[in-house]
Amino acid sequence: MADEQAEGEIFELAESLKRHLGRRKRAGIRVVPNGQLREAIEPKVAGDSPLSSSAEEGLFADQSPLQKVKSLEELLAEIGDCRRCKLCTGRTHIVFGVGNPHARLMFVGEGPGRDEDLQGEPFVGRAGQLLNDIITKGMGLKREDVYIANVVKCRPPENRNPEPDEVAACEPFLKKQIDLVRPKVIVGLGKFAVQTLTQSKVPITKLRGTWHYYHGIKLMPTFHPAYLLRNPADKKLVWEDIKKVIQELGSEDS
Ligand code: URA
Repeated sequence: MADEQAEGEIFELAESLKRHLGRRKRAGIRVVPNGQLREAIEPKVAGDSPLSSSAEEGLFADQSPLQKVKSLEELLAEIGDCRRCKLCTGRTHIVFGVGNPHARLMFVGEGPGRDEDLQGEPFVGRAGQLLNDIITKGMGLKREDVYIANVVKCRPPENRNPEPDEVAACEPFLKKQIDLVRPKVIVGLGKFAVQTLTQSKVPITKLRGTWHYYHGIKLMPTFHPAYLLRNPADKKLVWEDIKKVIQELGSEDS
């Protein structure tokens, strides 16, 4: 009996470890044989142009505590068991981000919903299914080819909009994620993400479909997949925006 219980516990532990490692792998992190953790990326190719005047500086000024962070793995460690804002009290998992750490295309959403909070991965609910369709059926890519993150990493209660202090606490981590992935194009999903990235209050209906910049990286604002679930007629507008992204990714200088 005791043996059976121990066996059950070991099985549960192994399953939980498997899920944990799966999440890390999808976030671009892996365990290498000597036991050290490192980002699953090759060294940056020579000539990879820095986003700011100094490759060391990245998107950050020297005084940022994230300045020393050199990989997604280190960034995740830096976030740790985050207590920097009140969202920590209601979360199940921190939803860090997922995808190719070298992605040329990055999607940025608002913040985790219920499914994402439970699974620890962005865009896995109904809106996530629609985003997957945009990536796979619309763009001919795989979800693993792109990188997906949110402005805030913990679920706001009842899926309310994140509050300014919560954004202020979390935004540096998104900024660093973008700095580390260095995508060619960012797609901002929905009013909240786009207004955060553009630091503007201009409505998404005015911002979508035209190119903007986030620290020198091309940013295409478009509607949030959750909005499209409620307003399917606007899918055609998103398709217009996505076609511009496809064209940009395929352009000569990529
Ligand atoms: N909506 C978002 O903005 N992000 C998610 O991860 C899921 C739903």
